[in-house]
Amino acid sequence: MSTNKEQAITFIDEKGEMLTGMSDFLWDHPEIGYHETKAAKLFCDTLQQEGFTVERPLAGIPTAFSGTFGSGAPIIGFLGEFDALPGLSQVSECPEKKAVEVGGAGRGCGHNLLGVGSLAAAIAVKHYLEQSGLPGTVKFFGCPAEEGGAGKGFMARDGVFDELDIAFSWHPGEVNSVACESTMANYQACYHFYGVSSHAAMSPELGRSALDALELMNTGVQYLREHMPMDNRVHYAITNTGGTLPGVVQPYAEGLYLMRAPQLGQAKDLYERVNRIANGAAMMTDTRVEIEFVKACSNTVMNTNLLQVLQRNLEQISVPEFSKEDFALAKAMRATQKGSASYFDELVLDVTDPEEQEKLSQNSNSDIHNVVMPFPMERQGFASSDVGDVSWVCPVAQLNIATMPAGTAMHSWQEVAVGKSGIAHKGMLYAGKVLAGAAIDVLRDPAVVERAKQEKLKRTKSQVYCAPIPKEVKPKISEGI
Ligand SMILES: [Zn+2]
Ligand SMILES: [Zn+2]
Repeated sequence: MSTNKEQAITFIDEKGEMLTGMSDFLWDHPEIGYHETKAAKLFCDTLQQEGFTVERPLAGIPTAFSGTFGSGAPIIGFLGEFDALPGLSQVSECPEKKAVEVGGAGRGCGHNLLGVGSLAAAIAVKHYLEQSGLPGTVKFFGCPAEEGGAGKGFMARDGVFDELDIAFSWHPGEVNSVACESTMANYQACYHFYGVSSHAAMSPELGRSALDALELMNTGVQYLREHMPMDNRVHYAITNTGGTLPGVVQPYAEGLYLMRAPQLGQAKDLYERVNRIANGAAMMTDTRVEIEFVKACSNTVMNTNLLQVLQRNLEQISVPEFSKEDFALAKAMRATQKGSASYFDELVLDVTDPEEQEKLSQNSNSDIHNVVMPFPMERQGFASSDVGDVSWVCPVAQLNIATMPAGTAMHSWQEVAVGKSGIAHKGMLYAGKVLAGAAIDVLRDPAVVERAKQEKLKRTKSQVYCAPIPKEVKPKISEGI
């Protein structure tokens, strides 16, 4: 490793206290999507202190912002998220479910770490640009409302990422691995049914039940499930039942639907089929339905060229050393999640060399997966992410880094509980180092950018990014996920 690169990576350790302090502050102040005012202020103040030029708001979203340093090509972006999940409040490092504030939000997806880990990378790359004198620009993007809000989808639609040559991001998890899982495209819509209220016993013939309509819509969708592609998904939540008195015919009811498919076009087809079911339900009940488009995400376009740069840095930069206390906490937390599926075990199955597989399997008994996984096979994941939209604008690659005990389920109270532990801090700083190392390699060998762009053209069959969110739709600021 060159001295300049090594110094830039060590710089993250020098900034370690400030960075972990930031992620702990975010953990202590869990703000949900589009409400991240404290987080946005903290990031913008820090970016300014660190010598970045801050731009805020972006795409008309008050909590979206960027910090820029340097000049010329390549322009490298780091994506940072910082939103929390409603209802997941949990006491730190407590091995039983116990809320700090009953019903409050919590860090169930580790975005306090995600945002700060990406910021760490941007700070290190700035340090490298200053020391090396190489041309290049580093940009940190503060991306709100990943959870159910598609913040990056709105930002991509409005051209926020257009100038980027490439972008990197990461996600807290239970393994150290490059992210070879593509995410699903999705559409989210709210179905508002309007009926007529009346006395359910004295004048039922005058009533038109919006709740009946919503129930029929759900029944219709159950039948649809048998006749849609096997890898498609439809989920729903009833967000308003219209009332609590059975003696009143419910004049209003609403449901929030989330439809997913591996490709954007398939998700759109599914959305349109669900819309027809909603219209059918309204017709059957003599009610009216209004379909409110909420948001949509594109599927993620993978980029092997960039993933290989990340893999090289994962292997080059030392994995964190966890303390006795870290392992003790991991053991205690792990005991609370019996039988949870491990992504680690799934990745081990990809390894064809029996000796390497054996070596990795030994680690599967560890309470923290502190090894680097070999380059995994590409696969279709079932989750969705608004990083997908950025990956249609410029080549993107991501990492998963172990910030939690082995086998911890995402969006669980256990994940919240470890969000400001030593495991989380060490994993976050490691993520920042690997991302920074990869960006530095790209600055030193900009030919990678061209190869990554060619690969993106091939994978997208040269299709131009077409934002799935219509121009007139504004971000929906709600509690819904
Ligand atoms: Zn999440
Ligand atoms: Zn997440």
